Amino acid sequence: MFSYRHGFHAGNHADVLKHMVLIAVIKHLTAKPTALTVVDTHAGAGLYRLDSDFAGTSGEAQDGIVKLLASPLAAEPPPLLADYLQLIASFNPSGRNRIYPGSPFVTQALLRKEARDKLWLFELHPTDAKALAEHVLQLEDQRMLAIKREDGFEGLRALLPPPSRRALVLIDPSYEIKNDYGRVALCIQESLKKFATGTYMVWYPVIPRPEAHELPRRLKTLSNQAGKPWLHATLNIGQAPERANTHTPGEKPPRQGLTASGVFLVNPPHTLKAALLEVLPQLVETLGRGRGQGHAVESGG
Ligand code: SAM
Repeated sequence: MFSYRHGFHAGNHADVLKHMVLIAVIKHLTAKPTALTVVDTHAGAGLYRLDSDFAGTSGEAQDGIVKLLASPLAAEPPPLLADYLQLIASFNPSGRNRIYPGSPFVTQALLRKEARDKLWLFELHPTDAKALAEHVLQLEDQRMLAIKREDGFEGLRALLPPPSRRALVLIDPSYEIKNDYGRVALCIQESLKKFATGTYMVWYPVIPRPEAHELPRRLKTLSNQAGKPWLHATLNIGQAPERANTHTPGEKPPRQGLTASGVFLVNPPHTLKAALLEVLPQLVETLGRGRGQGHAVESGG
């Protein structure tokens, strides 16, 4: 079960989509003075070195944040992307892009001490949970944070509804076990019963697997049944053209890695759809590698 390590994938195109949307949602929710609770059910290690062995082995950031930062789009980004790039830059004050913040640090950077916002982080992997706890020690004020080395789906149950009645739940499993797809759907179903006004954000990989295909459909049905608005967006960077001379004849071509991913939100900010419709075509143009590249944004409720 524990073969997935987010360090291999940090800063890839899927992280660009997920963290850009996460920032937009938190900025919207923190515009009101009332305390906000954020629950990150699958937190990861929190911070990643883009020059580490992990990141270097897969090089996924090269087709994500690294490519984006080197592109003309980074010089004149639309607002959603500008907020994301600014936050990434704040972790790299020297100007060299070496640190990539995961969802715990992206979120923590935007939460407000004075409003008594609260961040709950769940991470099961022993090594990543330990790394997360160590990374959090760097923060001046850790009082707004709680780290649990527990199952995030289970842990969430006890936290809803939050005392302030305002919450964002990020559900970002690794989907290394098929079961995760069903658990995500069940988690949304149960959570909407307990706390229907919360904002829920699910990330998922767009891969040729029936469960992955079904997940956004199930989430749409659950949102519609609960009478709640939803938003679904995907980013596909397409297949990398096979480069000549990178592998010998008869040998398998290099792995393409994940080409597409999606985010599904229940009770999204009303401004998010228009912002995504502006930014996603530009991201496809910048990060697109070839066959299959594209984006989609749909909403309902
Ligand atoms: N949310 C992180 C980010 O955006 O930076 C990335 C999370 S990564 C995709 C998924 C993480 O969930 C992995 O670190 C994995 O060890 C952890 N994990 C897997 N199953 C879990 C569970 N049931 N509860 C909590 N964490 C889990």
